[in-house]
Amino acid sequence: MAPKGFPELLKEHEDELVESLLHWSLSNGLIMYPPNYAKYQANNAPITLFPTPFPKKLYENAIEVQEVFNELYVNVISKEKEWLIAKIKELSEFDQSFTGELFNIYQKILSENGGKLKQELSLGLFRSDYMINSVDETIKQIEFNTISVSFGGLSSKVGKLHQYLNNSGYYDDKYSMKYYDNEHIPISNSINKLAKGINEANYYYNDQTHNTKTVILFIIQEGERNVFDQRHIEYSLIENHQLKSYRLSLEKVQEEVVINNDKLYIKQTMDEVSVVYYRSGYGPNDYTSSKCWESRYLLEKTLAIKCPSILTQLSGTKKIQQILTNEEILKKLLPKIDTKTYNQLLSTFVKIYPLDDSEEGKYAKKIISEDSSKFVLKPQREGGGNNIYKEDIPKFLQKIDEKDWGAYILMELIHPPKYSNKIIRNDEIYNEDIISELGIFGSIIFNETTGEIKLNFESGHLLRSKFSSSNEGGVAAGFGCVDNIYLYE
Ligand code: ADP
Ligand code: MG
Repeated sequence: MAPKGFPELLKEHEDELVESLLHWSLSNGLIMYPPNYAKYQANNAPITLFPTPFPKKLYENAIEVQEVFNELYVNVISKEKEWLIAKIKELSEFDQSFTGELFNIYQKILSENGGKLKQELSLGLFRSDYMINSVDETIKQIEFNTISVSFGGLSSKVGKLHQYLNNSGYYDDKYSMKYYDNEHIPISNSINKLAKGINEANYYYNDQTHNTKTVILFIIQEGERNVFDQRHIEYSLIENHQLKSYRLSLEKVQEEVVINNDKLYIKQTMDEVSVVYYRSGYGPNDYTSSKCWESRYLLEKTLAIKCPSILTQLSGTKKIQQILTNEEILKKLLPKIDTKTYNQLLSTFVKIYPLDDSEEGKYAKKIISEDSSKFVLKPQREGGGNNIYKEDIPKFLQKIDEKDWGAYILMELIHPPKYSNKIIRNDEIYNEDIISELGIFGSIIFNETTGEIKLNFESGHLLRSKFSSSNEGGVAAGFGCVDNIYLYE
């Protein structure tokens, strides 16, 4: 069945809706700091007025494969460690100042500790992102994120807001009735589920006891505008698990912590840190000085459980994603997988090529020189704004030495359906065609050495939308907005 169209409202009713939406957002923390903010002033986050249609079956597919994807990446990290390390070494050659630095820290820690990690347990809070491919109505994976996944906080909030607007009759022009069935506009429980992941890591840190004296350390960016997204997870930690949290940037870590017998403490209170949760450290810009790299090294070598560990972070690079689309490699990494699930995983992949000297790489170079309009070129970077699209690709590649092309992957473009939803940003409403990207969160606790998985669960969803005219969709970066799904069959 086709989805219901968006509510059509008279101007005066839309104005009422917008006022209520803004009040709700400001009351409930669906907010962000504006650029150059003062600490006491926040803005409504950019969001859609209405939830965007998403086929129920495809949403369920994405949910169904999440735990297998979590396991796949854990197997890469623990069971195929040597292979992963060999790949990271190759990537480090291209990218000494970032991938190389991270890898150096990993190696240094091992060599200082007789080849072993201080803390073998690792927490992954992941997010797998998809777009719908209109051509065959399947979901296709955009990327798998293993560090600093964001919007789990605001996603729960936007779901609640849309339900509130629906329940209050703002979506029905005539009778002030519910326009949607609430079941069809599900609220993501990502705030509580991500907090649960952290709480469970605290439990394993404390030899499987619920110790509420240990604390969580959030590593954050100075001047972060998306702090409320993170704060919602902190509030859930204290409310639901009695776990305190602290926030420190990589710049400040060394002044504010003490390490004793490999345990990490907050200097001022001598609270012991059980989990270091990185919401920073995923890109070169987060390491403004050598001090930041030293901080990362110090944190990594403690007994605190890292979310993520260095290897977990590096397993999420685009290059590894490209390699994992190979059917044989996939099967090898998931030896016990049943055929149905295996096919489900495969169906989420679009073609991704290397740009190296391999046969596949040579083929990719050939097709891109003939027609680049169907591709996106991606470097090994996270956080939005790094990709090169379509016709820009050949020009871009010409500027770099061919031997360095191996640092990039070439991915087929996905063409999602367009919807004419409305986006509100500050006090402006944009009514343009939008396209959406569904993210599914996942939490996993595992032993990085043995590969044993202690806990693995799907952790809610996120829908981000952007104007179909823009190539990139980063919300914090200013291109997109937070949305929610309206499921239809
Ligand atoms: P980043 O690590 O910077 O988030 P992504 O791989 O997620 O990198 O790409 C950023 C954005 O580019 C995505 O959110 C999506 O909007 C767009 N994009 C990436 N890959 C594709 C693709 N294959 N087809 C269409 N759009 C894509
Ligand atoms: Mg992304």
